[in-house]
Parts: sequence; C-alpha cells; structure tokens
Amino acid sequence: MMDVPLLVRHIAQRAEQVFPERELVSRTQEGIERSTYARVVERARRLASALTQLGIGPGDRVATFGWNSLRHFELYLAVPSMGAVLHTLNIRLFEDDLRYVAAHAEDRIVFLDASLAETMPHLEGIEHEVLMPDGPGERPGALDYEELIASGDPAFPFPALDERSAAAMCYTSGTTGRPKGVVYSHRSTLLHALGIALPDAMGLRERDSVMPVVPMFHANAWGLPYGAALVGARQVFPGPQMTPAAIAGLIEQEHVTFTAGVPTIWQGLLQLGDDAPSLASLREIVCGGSAVPETLLRGFDARFGVPIVQAWGMTETSPLASASRLPDDERGRDPESDEAYALRATQGHVQPLVDFRVDAEAGGELLVRGPFVAARYYGDEGDDERFTEDGWLRTGDVVELRDGSYLKLVDRTKDLVKSGGEWISSVELEGTIMGHPEVIEAAVVAVADERWGERPCACVVRTKGSELDADGIRAFLAERVARWWLPERVEFIDEVPKTSVGKFDKKALRRRFA
Ligand code: ADP
Repeated sequence: MMDVPLLVRHIAQRAEQVFPERELVSRTQEGIERSTYARVVERARRLASALTQLGIGPGDRVATFGWNSLRHFELYLAVPSMGAVLHTLNIRLFEDDLRYVAAHAEDRIVFLDASLAETMPHLEGIEHEVLMPDGPGERPGALDYEELIASGDPAFPFPALDERSAAAMCYTSGTTGRPKGVVYSHRSTLLHALGIALPDAMGLRERDSVMPVVPMFHANAWGLPYGAALVGARQVFPGPQMTPAAIAGLIEQEHVTFTAGVPTIWQGLLQLGDDAPSLASLREIVCGGSAVPETLLRGFDARFGVPIVQAWGMTETSPLASASRLPDDERGRDPESDEAYALRATQGHVQPLVDFRVDAEAGGELLVRGPFVAARYYGDEGDDERFTEDGWLRTGDVVELRDGSYLKLVDRTKDLVKSGGEWISSVELEGTIMGHPEVIEAAVVAVADERWGERPCACVVRTKGSELDADGIRAFLAERVARWWLPERVEFIDEVPKTSVGKFDKKALRRRFA
C-alpha cells in the first residue's frame, strides 16, 4: 500500500475539491455570515501564506482566543496545514491560568475575536495579535485579520509534513489541578476525525447540518469541525450567543440536524418555556464531558423527541473515546424500558482503535491506549504518574462494565466519597437526586466527617417556588439508593458553580462547604 501520511491538509483539500459549494454559516455579534468550503479553504491558504510572511514557520505555536466561528475554523485548517501548531486558548480560563498556558506553550501569535478584545489580557511573549472582526471591538496595535487574508497568496501550497508532527494543542480545563498540555499530531487528528464520523459514534454525513456547541477551545470542539468537513457536512457556528434560548433559536433557523455539547447546555434547553424554538430538525445530540443524567435523556425524548447519545472522553483522548447506543432491537430490548435508559445512561462502547482495561487494584480505574490517546503531557516530565510504564493512560475515572461491554463511569477517583472504608458514587447520587421533579441540578461532594472519614454533601438547585427540603430529598433517595448513602447534609443553592467548560465545579463546592 502507499505510505501516505494522514494530514489535516487532506481535510481541507477534500472539502475544496469535493464539496466546494457546501455552505458554512457563522453567527456573529451582529448577524449571520455565510461562506462555502471553497471560499474557506482559499482563505486558509491565504492565511497560511500571510503567516509565513510574518515569520511563522513549522512547529511555531499559533494561539486563538475565540468563539465558535468561521474564522476560527479557517485557523483550524490553515495553521496545522502549514506545519504550525494551533493552540486554542480557553476564553473562560482565569487570567493566571491563561498566562501560564500561553507562556508554557510559547505561543508566538494570537488571533482574537473583536467581541473578546476587552476580555483578553496582554500575554507575555506574544509577538503579534490579530483581531478577527466579529463585530465592534478594538485592540490597539493588533493586525487586522481581513487585511492579513487579503495580503496572502490564494494558491499557497500546503507543504508535505510528517504525520507524527504536531497539529494542535489543548490544555485540560484544570477541573482537578493546573492545566496540562496535550499535543495532537496530524495522524491522531485524522484517525480521531474518521472515528467520530462512524455511524455508532456521531454518525456524521454530508447531508447533516452540524452545529458545534462545544467550544472550539475545548478539545478541538470534540473534533466536530474536522469530522464534519471530512464528510462534507454543512456547519453552523453559534458565535458569541451561547444561551440555551439563542442556541435553540439557531437550531430552528438554520435547520441544524446534529449538535454536541456538555449536559449543562441541554439542561438549559429543557428549562425553556412553551414558546421555545422548535428542535424538530435535529436528528440527534451527542452529550458528554460530564455524566449525562438519565432524566436528561428522558426529558429530551419526552419533550422534543430528540435522542441524546452519551459520549465519554478526555482532552487526553482527542477527546471522543466512547459512545453509548442501544444494541440492535433484535436482541429484544424495548427502547422505552428502564433497562434501555439505564444502558443509554452508561458511557457506552469504546471507539475503534481504543484499547481499555480496568485496574481492579486501583479500585476499578479505567486505563486506555490508542493512536489518538496522549502518551505524555507537553513539557511535563515530572507528571507521568498518569501514564503506566507499559504505555497506558490512567484516566482517573472509576468504571464498571454493564451488559458485558458498556463502560459505566462510577465517578472520578478524586470525587468518590470515601465513607467508612466504602465508596459512594457522587455521580450516581447526584444523578438520582436530579430525577426528583423539583430539582434542576444537584452536585454531591465529600465533606470531612469525624466518624466516617467522609460523608456526602448534596448541593441542590430547586425549581422556582419549590419548598422541597432536606428530608424530602432523603425520602426520595431512600427508595432508590442504599441507606448509608443518604446525605446528612443537603445545601440548597441558587446555581451549581461551573468550570470554564461548563462542568460542575466541585473544587469550588468543596471549598464552600468543607
Ligand atoms: P478536565 O479533566 O479538566 O475536566 P476534560 O475535559 O479533559 O478536562 O475532562 C475529562 C473528564 O471528564 C473525564 O476524565 C471524565 O471524568 C469526565 N467526563 C467526560 N465525559 C463524561 C461522561 N460522559 N460521563 C462522566 N464523566 C465524563
């Protein structure tokens, strides 16, 4: 067989050759911009040429600070295809962490949205800032994105590269510590993009209109922009308006058929009133990043008739590493049954090319390896306890197997409540509490206890006007979980604090209630 390297430029070339007229849509601060794969790839070539003229070369880190947008997508294609490394900065990171990751990655240039011009601090070591005009917003001294594009060569040839060279990098959101850098290669990016497009993963196809809701700074928007481009799907980028109502409005207006994001956003859609936009165009939502409560699956089925498919992954796994779908009906499972919902609420089957094993000695910790799983962290020689000597990644997630081969994530090792030598799953407890009709959100954290070591503390957000109290929560739980799991402490809060990528911020809750 030919030894052809797997390169990001292949995604761009295929899109421009095979799907030149397929539409790409981007919402900005002020309206909607429309383009095509042909135009976007031409602009990516111009951009690569302009960057070369600025002295950016192979291996140099090019940072972005932006919403999900067309221009961000142009950078997704241009930067790796010219041999440079795309570093997507998390726009919601604390300033201190942001400075840390930009310096750690040695970013040379940063592209930022005008709408974020006031949010982004000046980062040390950055030689050029480039302003992407998504509406009003100024940045003195910054270059103009459109001028840069205009100055570039539309026929710039993307160079031949080693498929193992770096294409992009991303830092973990730091839910459990300092952000750590993961570097994706061209090869891993292509294999992952092919994998997510598979029917039992995201099932992407040309006729889809794909809306990446998961941010483009969060593990490459789960690979969606690449996967969608690879199959020639239409893409709809939601830009700065990320409220549930705005997301739903764009789905209706642009007839989006497929989307993906963390549970928080879909919980928000479920809270919308009867005048909410229609989601009738959607065939499916892939949801992951944190545990998807069964009530969310049921809620979407009942109200919108839109199936939510749970997926699991980590920044370290590119990220999509498993997805949960029901086996063929021939095996006799009623899709409406409790059993079916329980299976859909697992993290599912691993993706092709992902090997896994469960380390019983580590309490059931999941270990994975594969061609799109990180082998180490960027520049962190001392932090390799996450990688075993024989080449596996310790995920920090504790799992059980359901139905033989479905991964069921019990908890993160750091979030388990260790009570009297036994473990209580915070994920299961909070998922159960969220099944109460008067509960919007619930997070469970461990609090120190003299007698038991740790006990669960439930932090609960009630529906408006609800008078549900701690006894009510315990009575509801008593019928569903073991007695010794019942939390003595229940705190009613207005909102569960969220991390920069919309996950429950348990560090903040522990600080508050410890
Ligand atoms: P961070 O570790 O900073 O949150 P990541 O986005 O890489 O950054 O998070 C990966 C972790 O998110 C996983 O190890 C797991 O704990 C959690 N996670 C991802 N998907 C799911 C899911 N479907 N169910 C439960 N937890 C999930």
